[in-house]
Amino acid sequence: MSSVAAPARAAGRQPAEDDLLCVRDLVKHFPVTRGLLGRTVANVRAVDGVSFRIGRGETLGLVGESGSGKSTVARLVLRLLRETRGEIVFAGHELTGMRAGELKRLRRRMQIVFQDPFSAFDPRMSIADVIGEPLRAHRLADGRSARRRAGELLELVGLTGTDLDKYPHQFSGGQAQRIGIARALATSPELLVCDEAVSALDVSVQAQVLNLLRRLQRELGLSYLFIAHDLNVVRYISDRVGVMYLGQIVEEGPADELLADPRHPYTRSLAAAIAGAGPPGSRRRVLARGEAPSPSDPPAGCRFHTRCPAAFGRCREEAPALRAVGPDRTASCHLLERPGQEART
Ligand code: SF4
Repeated sequence: MSSVAAPARAAGRQPAEDDLLCVRDLVKHFPVTRGLLGRTVANVRAVDGVSFRIGRGETLGLVGESGSGKSTVARLVLRLLRETRGEIVFAGHELTGMRAGELKRLRRRMQIVFQDPFSAFDPRMSIADVIGEPLRAHRLADGRSARRRAGELLELVGLTGTDLDKYPHQFSGGQAQRIGIARALATSPELLVCDEAVSALDVSVQAQVLNLLRRLQRELGLSYLFIAHDLNVVRYISDRVGVMYLGQIVEEGPADELLADPRHPYTRSLAAAIAGAGPPGSRRRVLARGEAPSPSDPPAGCRFHTRCPAAFGRCREEAPALRAVGPDRTASCHLLERPGQEART
């Protein structure tokens, strides 16, 4: 376990009036229990002090390896999980501690697109019913009006109204993801949480679905929390990117700047791992070593120190604070403490 408490995490950019979502110091620990009495013997520190904001019409990409906590953040925002502590404010409403009835009314304004749309569909339901289900659940439409709306949504995502009477198994993975997006849009949400929404698709189909999401954002003014492990995908769709490592955001900033000049050694290793990133011959020097440690026992000091090619003595003792490293950019690394000092690894 970390012997030095992590410093309070600062938000990546200053609050703005048009922020749709504001997450402050969000923490989610899952207890590990043992024995008949269910004694807590450890905590999986899945999310450990995460803060960010998403403006209206903006996309924040959250990127990181499996186990970094990004999907747990998605479930906390959507209230599918309860936080250990922290604050989530959506459209000016504090969600944490909100009563069920009030939360239900707000829930239709934020929806999720899953990695595997088939898992969210009942295979015995027609596509008209799959898309109409949230309309009925939120009492927005029923019967003919739900079917008409489902047809409009199918056309919006590039399918046709004649697909309404088909069943999920009659569609390809890319078409099924379009149906998943149509279903998510049924309640006219303002925020879409896309959790690895294109990760299971072929590269060419990925591009089509990403372009669809971008068009829908322009036309409907949507905000996205876009979660993926692939930095290329995140770069393509995001205005801003937050890089997560072992439950914490270690770097955040505008997507183009962050990818062109990553400041944190972990971001640099992710950037170097994607094709064509970094100068030739530089990859071995910047790639992270080995596997990420377990979030149930994160390393003391900087959580990345066991894999960081630039680690030095202090990194093993003291957790670096998330600090400004440029206009509208933050990162947490001791090497970035003083202006002009760079984490060049
Ligand atoms: Fe690497 Fe140390 Fe910076 Fe952590 S604080 S990223 S271990 S150099």
